[in-house]
Order: sequence, then C-alpha cells, then structure tokens
Amino acid sequence: MSQPAIITVAITGAIPRKADTPAVPVTPSEQIESTQEAFEAGASVVHIHVRNPDESPSSDPALFGRVQEGVSNHCPGMIIQFSTGGRGREQSERGKMLYLKPDMASLATGSVNFPKQIYENPPQLVDDLASTMLACDVKPEIEVFDVAMLYNAKALADRGLLKRPCHVQFVMGIPNALPARRKLLEFLIDELKDLMPDATWAAAGIGRHQLEVNEWCLELGGHVRTGLEDNIKFDKARLARSNAELVARVADLCATKGRRPAGPAEARQILQLPPARKPTAK
Ligand code: ZN
Repeated sequence: MSQPAIITVAITGAIPRKADTPAVPVTPSEQIESTQEAFEAGASVVHIHVRNPDESPSSDPALFGRVQEGVSNHCPGMIIQFSTGGRGREQSERGKMLYLKPDMASLATGSVNFPKQIYENPPQLVDDLASTMLACDVKPEIEVFDVAMLYNAKALADRGLLKRPCHVQFVMGIPNALPARRKLLEFLIDELKDLMPDATWAAAGIGRHQLEVNEWCLELGGHVRTGLEDNIKFDKARLARSNAELVARVADLCATKGRRPAGPAEARQILQLPPARKPTAK
C-alpha cells in the first residue's frame, strides 16, 4: 500500500492581508470555515495564527480558543497546531495560549534573518517555550529556518526539553534563510536521521517554491505543508482561491508519487499523538 503523507495546511500566517489576498482567512469564523474545507480536501494538521480585529497578529488566547473549538467541532480528529512565531508579537506573549493544550505548537530553535527583520529566538526563549510545551503536553513542531537549528533541536532533546520522537519541519525559500534546494533538503534529512533516527519530518517551501518542495517531500518520504500563509499564488497566472485549493493540489500530487494523504487518525499515529479531545457540544 502507498505510504501516507501528512498534509499540513497553514491557513493564515502573520503578514497583513492585502487587497490582492482576499482568500486569506482572518476572523475566527473565516478560519474555521477555511480549515474545514482544507480538512475535507485532505489536510490532517492545521497551523494557526490569529489576528486582532484590525488584522494585526494577535496572541490573544481567547481567539486561539475560538478557532480551536470550532476546528475540533467541525473537523473530527484534525491535529491543531498553534504558531508561537514572532512576527508582530512580543516574545513574552508568544507562548501565552499554550495552556489551551493544542495538539502541537511550532518551536523555532534559533534566530535567523528574514528579508527585512531578525526573527529573534534567543536561547532563553527557546528553553522557556520548550518547557511550557512539555508541561502542557503539547508536541512541538521544530521549525528549522537555518542549519544550526537542527543541531539545537537535538541538544534540546538531549537536555530533556523535547520529548522524543521529535517532529521537524525544514522551512525553505525565505530570502536570507535556507534556500529551496533539493540537495540541501537531502543533506538535512540525512543529518536528521543521524541525529534523531526516530524523528518524523516535513518541509515547507515559501512562495513560488511551495510546489517543488511538496514534490521533493513526497519523493523523499516526508510530510508536506501548504496553505496561504506560505504562498498566495496557485501558479504564475493567478492567485489561489482558497486553502482547500492548495491542499487539493498536494493531495492529487500524492498519487503521482506513490503516496496518499494520511487521515487524521493515521496522522496522529505517525506523530505519536493521542486521539483527539472530544469536541465540545455544538
Ligand atoms: Zn506560521
């Protein structure tokens, strides 16, 4: 049987919505609806950022809680992942919703330059976020934006701050950080297998690199990420209509690479996550 691939949909991100990105869901109800469509198209993990009413990035646990509740009710078993990412948020705010116990949360294990800013993840913050995730039983998705972050993750696991098996995501194609190069991805996977043989992995390609990175992941046995956070275009000629449209494209791609989209229960098994919390009554 073909090997399952977990499709993560990154629905929103932290970059302000512009006139040319109307499909990006911003309010909790838009986010829940967009996630449900993506779930039905084959996504089993949703990566969530929330926005204030003025659409700036928010750390408000109430907003995270609303999206979490809606997704658990409408997408049975889907794995819910909160972003602890830095864009537009104070460091002290970034872990403040982890007590809501999403299944997973993102954890960048080092600092890196982005195109116009430093994405700051000082050692103490990384330790604090990792410890909070451990205490709240939230599985980190380790975000590797630059090579050292992979080795930092291994060091955190050795210090007992990350529970094994770890799940790692390589983020490729952000200017100033890891470029989208297949041989670099192959090297990173090779190193990961040396360092943490039980780890699972995925990669995200940003912007025009999204589709090629999806293809490499499926060919190399990894998991995949898509969604409007990473890329708003379907192809050179037009914008993506929805998160679901991007998910459907990856789901179709699976078949051509001898893979198939993992269902939510299967994705939980692969990531060694417990079964979903029972949704609250509607
Ligand atoms: Zn994100």
